[in-house]
Amino acid sequence: MNAPLVQNLIDGRLVPAESGRTLRNVEPATGGAFGTLPDSDEADVAAAVAAARRAFPQWSRTPAEERSRILLDVAARIEANAEALAELESRDTGKPIRTARTMDIPRAAKNMRFFATAILHTASEAHATDEAALNVTLRRPRGVAGCISPWNLPLYLFTWKIAPAVATGNTAVAKPSELTPATAHRFSELCVEAGLPPGVLNVVHGLGAKAGGAIVAHPDVTTLTFTGGTKTGATIASTAGPLFKKVSLELGGKNATIVCGDADFDTAVSESVRAAFTNQGQVCLCGSRVFVERGLYDRFTEAFVDRVTSLRLGDPMAEETDLGALVSEAHMEKVLGYIALAREEGGTILTGGSRWTPDASRCRDGYFVAPTVVTGLSATCRVNVEEIFGPLVTLIPFDSDREALDAANATPYGLSASVWTTNLDRAHAFAEGLDVGTVWVNCWLFRDLRVPFGGMKQSGVGREGGEEALRFFTEPKNVCFRRSER
Ligand code: NDP
Repeated sequence: MNAPLVQNLIDGRLVPAESGRTLRNVEPATGGAFGTLPDSDEADVAAAVAAARRAFPQWSRTPAEERSRILLDVAARIEANAEALAELESRDTGKPIRTARTMDIPRAAKNMRFFATAILHTASEAHATDEAALNVTLRRPRGVAGCISPWNLPLYLFTWKIAPAVATGNTAVAKPSELTPATAHRFSELCVEAGLPPGVLNVVHGLGAKAGGAIVAHPDVTTLTFTGGTKTGATIASTAGPLFKKVSLELGGKNATIVCGDADFDTAVSESVRAAFTNQGQVCLCGSRVFVERGLYDRFTEAFVDRVTSLRLGDPMAEETDLGALVSEAHMEKVLGYIALAREEGGTILTGGSRWTPDASRCRDGYFVAPTVVTGLSATCRVNVEEIFGPLVTLIPFDSDREALDAANATPYGLSASVWTTNLDRAHAFAEGLDVGTVWVNCWLFRDLRVPFGGMKQSGVGREGGEEALRFFTEPKNVCFRRSER
């Protein structure tokens, strides 16, 4: 597969940056070149926002059924091109082709289909004020939405934002991560082929602070949906706040997996390994701190490490690969830095603990890190509090549910947690006590797109998914019809 010539989508046309400048894209599994992308700046963003503004009056009045039809067509085109998209995603991110094929690309199609059909089934609210008046709450699209997404689940999260924005009648200016532009570019082509009118979706590629920052600061972008790091979220909030933009921030996580002594042992082991290492640990929902009840701890640790050592690292394009490369050299260095910190903080590395070189010669310079399991660290040390976002997991014993809860909550993050127990009362108590937006009981990353999704504390502001997203992208306007007095 040749690297795609990534271009911006502006006003229905695929174009380079106005300046003509490009950035080099890298394939993380090889460290080699994987095409280029536009190095967009304020001028490209201004053109994209202008196109989105021009398209808004028509698109916002387009009947829901017609908007739905076009977005369903996009979903069908993602499915028809699934294998090629999976290959692009795998090469661009370093993730195993199997992950891209079974998780990223199907979910992208599902996102489009979910919101394309959701808009056909929404009800307006009415409040009758006794016999005096009838209030009808109308929901209108807000205008131009800015959609900024990260590199870990590129097309999955890109479409998770674009689908509800555009389905509800807004127009959008979207920016994928500069590290993973390939599937966003192919998606742009598919939208054009599906007949999405020019300007409804505009895609601007480039650097976060430059292209992303210009979207955030643009006065005509009134709604902003962002998924990414907490620090970036703070920067965005500080720009958007004084401009009174409506903002949704889905940020970092440092999620706990809590394994009780009464858990179904085999499932708890295999699923907590999956929760720790899916996508090389680069999912915001990954469980990177595993709290295990003391009585089970030794047996669990042995089984957990056994399972981790059986994971197959290798060329992401190979069918059998379980773990591929990290997304960039800089990110690999960050993760290796945390492994060094784990040692400094007194941790014991049970497996992994270093960069890894695969057998496949094409991957000799790739950014691979062996899946790493650490014990012996306190719940409040830096490794257990800061987000690492890589294949590093810590195992921590606990003696009481109170202790497990306090330790699980002892981070600035509050995105998700999973609890493994066969005791319903314990499950309820943990679900109640965990300061997170999502608690999974006896499962992990089991998603229903209708449920509210998001984080507490520094994991974000607002919720995505289902009704929450439909509300976020619309402005309620209440109309009060006063009845005449008889
Ligand atoms: P970043 O915050 O670095 O980047 C996210 C996006 O924002 C990218 O498109 C980036 O562009 C862009 N960006 C960077 N700086 C700015 C800026 N100043 N203004 C506007 N846009 C900007 O996150 P990562 O890409 O490193 O993604 C990893 C993070 O995302 C992790 O912290 C992870 O937990 C979080 N995440 C959260 C999820 C959730 O649902 N809560 C889901 C998935 C990930 P560029 O990459 O080109 O710099």
